[in-house]
Amino acid sequence: MTCSPLRLRLDGDALVANWRLLRDMSEGAACGAAVKADGYGLGAREVVRRLAEAGCRDFFVALWSEARALADLGVPVSVLHGVRAEDMADRPANARPVLNTVEQVRRWREAGGGPCDVMVDTGMNRLGISAEDVAAGLLDGLAIETLMSHLACADEDVSLNGRQRAALAALGGRTSARRLSIANSAGIALGPDYAFDLTRPGIALYGGRQHAGHVAIRQVVTPEAQVVQRRRVRAGEIVGYNATFTAPRDMEVAILNLGYADGYLRCFSGKGLARLGEVVLPVIGRISMDLTAIAVDAAPALAEGDWVALDYALPETSALSGLSQYELLTGLGSRFERKWD
Ligand SMILES: *Cc1c(COP(=O)(O)O)cnc(C)c1O
Repeated sequence: MTCSPLRLRLDGDALVANWRLLRDMSEGAACGAAVKADGYGLGAREVVRRLAEAGCRDFFVALWSEARALADLGVPVSVLHGVRAEDMADRPANARPVLNTVEQVRRWREAGGGPCDVMVDTGMNRLGISAEDVAAGLLDGLAIETLMSHLACADEDVSLNGRQRAALAALGGRTSARRLSIANSAGIALGPDYAFDLTRPGIALYGGRQHAGHVAIRQVVTPEAQVVQRRRVRAGEIVGYNATFTAPRDMEVAILNLGYADGYLRCFSGKGLARLGEVVLPVIGRISMDLTAIAVDAAPALAEGDWVALDYALPETSALSGLSQYELLTGLGSRFERKWD
């Protein structure tokens, strides 16, 4: 197999260090890991293998297909979207649903009601059964591992956080649940009141920073691309689609094997930065589907076939591009070879 001309460098030590930091911030609560959307684009199997070895025992995916792809790793997986009728036939033994609706609870009970998790809505109005339904006994007799809720604004300092926290706390002891859980990455940084028995970080594992409490979170993902061609562009000539860049002087340009089809979207046109070691090589002109032009006067030796790294620290790249830290990761395409250091 030939190797791909574009790759994601993935720092396994940083991933594990980030999980340990979030575990320590969870102050005695267990710390899980959200690995939906193929581990936020990094590759769920490799993420799970590393975090399971570090001691993580609670993994969260959105879909049963994602749980099946992890089945042979033998770690407990919770399926956040619950169970449809279509899901009941093919469920791996290590996975359980997070029941979100009255209908899902009924379906689970009728099928024998094995271990499950339950999502309760405490104000986000996304997924989850109502606290009133819990209080009225909807869950009585169910074998619930974790009763959880989800914060709408964990990355903001707003009173809704405290109200959601209190609403979940008020359900403590009302069900058979062994554990309560509300905090995602940003929720962990709200403080130990939010940790309950289990935290569920995702983005911060992968280098996301949304809160001052995340300063020590390390970057995990760096896209790298190979130079397809190096060329000289004369003063006054243009580069790329729609001629959005005109060379102000004679200059050296390299064309990278990377484009918006790989998740390096057009918002990086004229804004993104590549690097060769410490040398900064700015993106010029429009990003194409499969190609990106950079100015390389500062790198006289850079040649066809050489590799450059793209700046991709999540908070800074989010501010630069207008994409969320989540979109920056989950948009990274399948043409990248994922290489763990
Ligand atoms: C995705 C998700 C998480 C992780 O959220 P981050 O913001 O990435 O830390 C936690 N809980 C639920 C229910 C989720 O859907």
